[in-house]
Amino acid sequence: MEQLTESYIFLEEADKNQQKIEKLSKTWKILSIEDDLDYQRALVSSLESLILPDRIRLRILTANSAFEASIILSTHPDIGLILVDVVMEEDDSGLRLVSTIREELGNALVRIVLVTGQPGFAPEKEVMHALDVDEYWNKTDLKHDKLHSIVSSNFRTWNYISELAEANQSLQIVLDAARSISCRYELPNFTRTVLAEIANIIGANEGGLICMGNNLNTIKGAHVVTATGCFENLAGITISDSHLTEIHEDLQKALNQKCHVITGLRSVLYFETKDVNEKCYLIVVSSSKALTEAHINLLKVFSENISSGFTNIALINRVTELAYTHSDLNIPNRNWLKKEIQKMSSLEWKQTRLIMLDVKYYDEMKFTFGYEFTQNVLIYVYKLLHEILPTSSQVTLSGHKQFSILLDINFELTPELIDKLTSNEIEVDGVAHITSFTLLDMPLDTLDQNSAIKIISMAESELKQASLNNIAYIQHSQHETDLINRRYSLMGELRNSIRERKLSVMLQPKVCLCSGEIVGFESLARWQRDDGSFVPPDEFIPIAEAAGLIIKLDCLIFEKTMEVLKTLVDMGYRIPIAFNASSVDLLHPDYFNFITNCITRYGLPSELLELEVTESQSIADYDRIQESLQRFVILGIKISIDDFGTGYSSLAHISNITAHSIKIDRSFVSQLEVDENSEHVINMILKLGKKFNFSIVAEGIETEYQKMWLKNAGCDIAQGYLFSKPLAIQDLIEWLAAYRK
Ligand code: C2E
Ligand code: CA
Ligand code: CA
Repeated sequence: MEQLTESYIFLEEADKNQQKIEKLSKTWKILSIEDDLDYQRALVSSLESLILPDRIRLRILTANSAFEASIILSTHPDIGLILVDVVMEEDDSGLRLVSTIREELGNALVRIVLVTGQPGFAPEKEVMHALDVDEYWNKTDLKHDKLHSIVSSNFRTWNYISELAEANQSLQIVLDAARSISCRYELPNFTRTVLAEIANIIGANEGGLICMGNNLNTIKGAHVVTATGCFENLAGITISDSHLTEIHEDLQKALNQKCHVITGLRSVLYFETKDVNEKCYLIVVSSSKALTEAHINLLKVFSENISSGFTNIALINRVTELAYTHSDLNIPNRNWLKKEIQKMSSLEWKQTRLIMLDVKYYDEMKFTFGYEFTQNVLIYVYKLLHEILPTSSQVTLSGHKQFSILLDINFELTPELIDKLTSNEIEVDGVAHITSFTLLDMPLDTLDQNSAIKIISMAESELKQASLNNIAYIQHSQHETDLINRRYSLMGELRNSIRERKLSVMLQPKVCLCSGEIVGFESLARWQRDDGSFVPPDEFIPIAEAAGLIIKLDCLIFEKTMEVLKTLVDMGYRIPIAFNASSVDLLHPDYFNFITNCITRYGLPSELLELEVTESQSIADYDRIQESLQRFVILGIKISIDDFGTGYSSLAHISNITAHSIKIDRSFVSQLEVDENSEHVINMILKLGKKFNFSIVAEGIETEYQKMWLKNAGCDIAQGYLFSKPLAIQDLIEWLAAYRK
């Protein structure tokens, strides 16, 4: 197919060339159509002596019938003037021929002069009007001189019109070219198209070259962006003294005068993008034949049209630069990573691994040492990564505290390298710090080629999970992909379940270790899927957080908690219930109002409510969370800091925290019998807690030993399976009755 098109173009070219030759040999064709042979002979001999301007000779073709004429016309489309007799085979043969020429052959260019020996046969005005005839004459009026002047004037008109038509055609090419160029925003693509279009415009093209440089004074040092034809061997090089010597002067002139230097065979076009940056571009075009005046003009028009193209590219690159780099740190950002992943071929996909690195304790560092400090940490890490990883690797800051690198699958992550990447002594502001990182190695071929966003967020959630579990290095495998896929499908189900209010709550009692009395409950969310299986909160809560569903979930759970509280209060149990809130809830503008409205609606005292927020979440955006917690305190709701001891700077900030009680994390309690360190931590928390007047709750108590140890250490309240697992309201009511006995 391609070949077909090409040979077709070739034929058309040949045809054009033939026309050019005829133009050059300086003849102009006219056709006389006449069935009166004597008259025609006289006409031909009269015209033979006519010399047109520029020494152009007439070439006179003759036809003696409309039929013959149509054959000649179809083989000589370049006939400039037709003298046609109105009456031939039929009374109106001439007239019908005219309409065939104009309408069927579509020849609007040829001049048509009607002649008639029977004046009045075809009324002049109407014919001219209806048939697009240029002139109408009586044979008797066509004397020698008159004939010469008619032919000469029609020649001038024809010449003028045909030049216009040609120019129109070329202009169309230029416009089309400019249009096809204006939608290209990448330099290589743009410049290739520019060269192709120039070749198209000047026809006899030998090759072209586009080079560019910053603030060029001489051509030396310019970088060749695109080169075709006779310049092909220069593609990609930096120009030195030995290149392009034969047009050195023209290039220099273009640079000095910032103008196009268009000459017969080799032309230099000059462009700059000084409104946006310092770049200038030189286009060199070589043609095999000297450019005509028309070509030169077209080249100029074309250049006008594309100069904005260079500026557009510079502008778009600038915008791209802004969109793809972190503005403060000048490091490629998440968008950049996204783009790189997006444009991978399936082969590249198989050969690439994504390394993601999370700076541990970033929020805590920011909290303790300030924003400036953490920015410096990021810059330090960025440089460090460049030192340890292959030089070609592009490091991106893909999250606020996460770096991502795309590496070749064959690059070996040795144990030493992993060590370096997971823990490092870094120097910030002249002081040495140990920072640790969570490292994820994700070979992309363990995943289906998916949208970049999905890949990045998969990696992030895996990294987060690892970081939470204190794992320094994980390698992503097919197993992880399966888990992630499960999380994705759970996400959809969870959304529906929340919408349909299908989640429920269970309550777990809190017991006073001294009196054995029940002093509270914790309300815990439960989710049963349609297939009957339960998904544990440790699995669905992170999903809800990641999917932005947590606020809806917590509001739903809060309402269900209020229902349960109402049931208990109505039965005469005035025991407080704690509900869990995440930092997203606390920072949400509507959350507080929702809670207060709900309390009013149920008509229950807010003193019977306690809000639990984890230590790590309360510290993530410390000031704003504190502010939010204060509002609940004013309302009469107590605050409990959950999972205490697992955060980074807990002990340092205990004195400022807005809270009534703190809950010692289950991990310390469960280690009591086996790890002495846990005893130390719990003792420390108890001491500090007492000092700052917090009541201390220990959670996850499963054994009598743990209970006694905590009681002896001075812990007030306990929660755990030893007393009761979380129970649905009906079971809880039975349990309460039994416990009281
Ligand atoms: P949490 O707030 O620390 O809740 C205590 C968890 O420890 C509960 O797990 C509870 O069932 C479990 N637990 C209590 N005693 C024992 C024990 O003696 N041994 C053991 N092994 N576990 C015990 P659960 O119900 O699976 O909830 C897990 C976490 O999910 C909760 O930890 C809480 O952070 C979160 N969560 C639960 N419900 C909600 C909710 O409605 N909203 C939010 N935002 N988070 C919730
Ligand atoms: Ca809790
Ligand atoms: Ca807890």
